[in-house]
Amino acid sequence: AKSEGKGKFHFYESSLSEALKARLDMERALQQAIVQDQFVLHYQPRVSATTGELRALEALVRWQHPELGMVPPMAFISLAEETGLILKLGEIVLAQACAQLAEWKAAGIPLVPVSINVSPYQFNRGNIGESFAACLARHDIDPSLVEIEITESAMIGEQDDVATELSSLREHGIQLLVDDFGTGYSSLSQLQRLDMDGLKIDRAFTGQLSKSPEGEVFFRAIMSMAHALGMSVVAEGVETEEQLRVLQSLSCDEIQGYFISRPVPAAEAQVLMQRRYLF
Ligand code: C2E
Ligand code: CA
Ligand code: CA
Ligand code: CA
Repeated sequence: AKSEGKGKFHFYESSLSEALKARLDMERALQQAIVQDQFVLHYQPRVSATTGELRALEALVRWQHPELGMVPPMAFISLAEETGLILKLGEIVLAQACAQLAEWKAAGIPLVPVSINVSPYQFNRGNIGESFAACLARHDIDPSLVEIEITESAMIGEQDDVATELSSLREHGIQLLVDDFGTGYSSLSQLQRLDMDGLKIDRAFTGQLSKSPEGEVFFRAIMSMAHALGMSVVAEGVETEEQLRVLQSLSCDEIQGYFISRPVPAAEAQVLMQRRYLF
């Protein structure tokens, strides 16, 4: 038994150092990707739940790795956060979204807001409002055309800092959405104090909608409280017409999900913008 234990330990040790090496390789690759600008944004439409009118496009980053191909954010965002590279990546995402809006504007495309995911780590520098405003000004884009999505769990950390950063963004005219709502522990009154404009309900809840009657209870409760507090509600991850019908009956404001469209490259997003009504 003893030798077995020893063997296990060695196995564990070597797989640990392999994992460490893989992580360092990945970190180096990510660093290089930033220098070589290997990131591209895809856009997923968010539409009115009642009319299907296009309301916004969510910008979702992808890493175009020269060998691995298109790498999804799940595979690199947390590493970017742990290594601090998220700050540069955040700037890249913002600059690319602003440049895209400017390009659409120059082409005479009727614009809708682009909503940008912001990591809580980007809030620690204390000037996110300024950097957003500067980027928007550089591209001559109205602040009403940019929204920020920040996860519920990110907002309950260092309350004061987050509140200051959020109000700085708000002062610059940027709309604020709570992402993945229902997965954290914030209260709606907390969110109202932070003057959030809307809630995006995590897709885990949307997935429960047509499955069980209890699935609706959560939505119904959130919807009535959010509306009473002046916040709009978006359902994420809508995949079926049945889910849409239930959400309509619950007076959900907006929906997003594969039922409407997957995230698509900018050229395809432009086609959706010109269609305007997506159902
Ligand atoms: P998120 O902000 O919750 O984005 C929604 C994710 O759900 C996207 O995955 C989207 O492709 C996926 N999705 C949309 N509709 C459906 C649906 O109907 N069914 C299912 N199963 N999935 C759906 P994606 O693009 O892989 O992004 C994953 C996460 O990575 C995002 O989750 C966000 O947290 C993060 N992320 C993406 N882009 C950025 C970024 O630019 N900055 C930061 N900090 N995080 C980002
Ligand atoms: Ca999001
Ligand atoms: Ca989300
Ligand atoms: Ca409000």
